[in-house]
Amino acid sequence: MPGVPNLTGLRGVGPQLAARLARIGIHSLQDLLFHLPLRYQDRTRLTPVAALRPGAEAVIEGEVLGADIVLGRRRSLLCKLADRSGVATLRFFHFSAAQQRALVRGLRLRCFGEARSGPAGIELVHPEYRALDPAAPIDLEDRLTPIYPAGEGLTQPRLRQLIGQALALAATRHPELLHDWLAPELTPGLPPLAEAVRYLHAPPAAAPVAQLLAGEHPAQRRLAFEELLAHHLSLRQLRARVQHRRAPPLAAPAELEERFFAALPFAFTAAQRRVSREVAADLARDRPMLRLLQGDVGSGKTAVAAYAIVQAVGAGRQAALMAPTEILAEQHRVTLGCWLEPLGIRIAWLTGKLKGSARAAELDAMASGTAGLAIGTHALFQNDVCYHDLGLTIIDEQHRFGVHQRLALRDKGRGRLTPHQLIMTATPIPRSLAMIGYADLDHSILDELPPGRTPVNPLLVPDRRRADVIARIHHACRAGQQAYWVCTLIEDSEQLQAQAAETTAADLQSALPDLRIGLVHGRVKPAAKAEVMTAFKAGELDLLVATTVIEVGVDVPNASLMVIENPERLGLAQLHQLRGRVGRGRAASHCVLLYSTPLSRLAGERLAILRRTNDGFAIAERDLELRGPGEVLGTRQTGDIQLRIADLCRDADLLPAVTRAAAILATRHPEAVAPLIARWLGRAQRYGEV
Ligand code: ADP
Ligand code: MG
Repeated sequence: MPGVPNLTGLRGVGPQLAARLARIGIHSLQDLLFHLPLRYQDRTRLTPVAALRPGAEAVIEGEVLGADIVLGRRRSLLCKLADRSGVATLRFFHFSAAQQRALVRGLRLRCFGEARSGPAGIELVHPEYRALDPAAPIDLEDRLTPIYPAGEGLTQPRLRQLIGQALALAATRHPELLHDWLAPELTPGLPPLAEAVRYLHAPPAAAPVAQLLAGEHPAQRRLAFEELLAHHLSLRQLRARVQHRRAPPLAAPAELEERFFAALPFAFTAAQRRVSREVAADLARDRPMLRLLQGDVGSGKTAVAAYAIVQAVGAGRQAALMAPTEILAEQHRVTLGCWLEPLGIRIAWLTGKLKGSARAAELDAMASGTAGLAIGTHALFQNDVCYHDLGLTIIDEQHRFGVHQRLALRDKGRGRLTPHQLIMTATPIPRSLAMIGYADLDHSILDELPPGRTPVNPLLVPDRRRADVIARIHHACRAGQQAYWVCTLIEDSEQLQAQAAETTAADLQSALPDLRIGLVHGRVKPAAKAEVMTAFKAGELDLLVATTVIEVGVDVPNASLMVIENPERLGLAQLHQLRGRVGRGRAASHCVLLYSTPLSRLAGERLAILRRTNDGFAIAERDLELRGPGEVLGTRQTGDIQLRIADLCRDADLLPAVTRAAAILATRHPEAVAPLIARWLGRAQRYGEV
């Protein structure tokens, strides 16, 4: 925007202050205007001393009865202040002699601070205060006082003053700062932009504070709406841009496809057939595919991936399959090796562990094109990795990767051709997140498990029967089966979780001295973890004690028993994923939910859902209803999307109107799109390539 001053154009802002503002994400006047208060103080009315409540902030006014230094545990200055209703104590730990001398008996003070109960009744610790001249009364504030997120060297008065300047500029010389790009019919029931911004920086005394604190005020929703809209528009734009890119059309000769199906040890399920047709149709086009393949644990996503790889290699191009851990990558190498090598497809293998000449040989196979398929971890997109002609990238367990990592792999394509992308996940992505974070990519759903699976019906067992459960593990392991013991903790601390798992493993080992017990948790180094997982897979361990970090997708058909401690602490979707790890082999499998008593009614109902259905999508939906998307998604998925004001959980109900508005703007007011994106994504352009 021409003519709009930057931050240093404001009074009092030099390079140093500008740098401090930049540190809290404020780079422009626009950013300053959208820097919203965290909360408000009410300095609009006086509270009688007798009405002070501990924990509440209040303005009081009264007469000084005296000020004395008290030597207690900490030397402090105590000033007694009386109004008609009672006496309060002002307590200062840091004070000067001059300050004490100034607080003379009879002086009128107005104070603001948080009340608390002290040894001699109600007190205010380090209140703000000023002396009042009875001849020249000062008014109370007529607006609530905003408290902003601040940073080093940025005081509240300074922020207020700067934001005040920005608001004044927007009201006079630079109305474009708060120009409303949205016609009222696009944002029904919500105030216009400028009104919303002004309201939030200085709400009237009677404003609904609880609603503001909850972020649910119409003024906040107006801004959240616009922010979500800007993100959505930006993704639409990027998506449209990608649609203009060219991709190599991939289709294998019919003969190769036949040989692939003939070599597979099983027939595709109806769902796998449908999804592979969707994938094949995308791959055959000269526009890059961006398809999310969602399928419950064990639904057979790998086989669909193999089918896509056959299309790519059959068309003379290369494919790369990236998995989040070594052990998963290794599992894919073995499985895909069995299915694809008989067709003459050579597989290169790349992980962080691979070094020296072995690594050089793999890199060479990828760069020269002798390898049709590369399988590996994050190592696949490192700088020195070159592909001969990458036509397809497949990301397994996509929620374990950031967007950048996915894009880094895609960018290994050659020349002006963009590889097709197939993204696989067992964690259903709610529609709201897909709209804002995933550019509305195309979806395929594997909604059918391969035949012959025994559904794992969880058994609810109270923790007082722990000894029976341990005996059951003993019995199963003596009979040649393997088992998981999953520890959960409410605390987010990895350290506490690790400790709990270690204690549990030690206890189980002393209760079951003849079993071979392994342990994995978030603090175990990746290499050591992989070693334990490999040993478990190879049957060298009977029992694996783990936190919820156990690898998603790891296939150990011989593991037929899983115990989950305190399952009430986990989301249903997570529990469902966990139980999906047993029930893959021939033996009847069991999942024991060892809950703490008493179990709340709600928790009981939630766990009962797992008994009623085995459908991961239905479970995820119920979980969303019961716990909200934040709980279901975890930070990996939401972390890529930096929202300033909107909250995907809280504001999810705005999303249908957001998509509607996006469609209308794009057709009727295309001129609004770029300014809206610039306003909200500004410098953050951006994570959201697709
Ligand atoms: P996920 O979708 O969780 O990644 P996998 O691809 O690992 O599932 O498949 C789980 C297991 O099911 C594997 O052992 C795989 O070989 C097997 N499988 C996949 N598709 C079929 C099928 N159509 N019939 C029988 N078994 C299948
Ligand atoms: Mg898998």
